[in-house]
Amino acid sequence: MNCEEIKNLMMGYIDGELSDEQKSLVEKHIEECEKCRDEYKSFVRIKEVTEDMRLADLKEDIWAGYWKGVYKRIERGAGWIFLSIGAIILLAFGMFEFIKSIIFDPSLSLIVKIGIFSLTLGVVILLVSILRERLFAFKKERYRDIER
Ligand SMILES: [Zn+2]
Repeated sequence: MNCEEIKNLMMGYIDGELSDEQKSLVEKHIEECEKCRDEYKSFVRIKEVTEDMRLADLKEDIWAGYWKGVYKRIERGAGWIFLSIGAIILLAFGMFEFIKSIIFDPSLSLIVKIGIFSLTLGVVILLVSILRERLFAFKKERYRDIER
């Protein structure tokens, strides 16, 4: 085999796509021919560099996706928390005013006052519970990101 033929086989050799027979032909020629040996070395270097580049690209993609996911989750978590805090403050304030006016209303019977008070208290407790659940889920999601 001449140098030209070996050159044509070299990429296949580096990629491990040749038959055993072709492989030993290339190996024997590289051993004997300095020109092809240099060529072979530069091919190997090119392959290494392009593989490193591909790997770096892949890593960057993964990191970009990772941070986008983390950011989105933090954003959602924070959004939920602020929404819940705002809702609780406004509702608590409104209910406080509402309860005040009911308690001092002499035309309502005690049992109706108790009913309304109990109802509003229940709503506030449920809201606090939802907020706590969101906070907990938020923390857990952050932890999962770190773990992964
Ligand atoms: Zn040669």
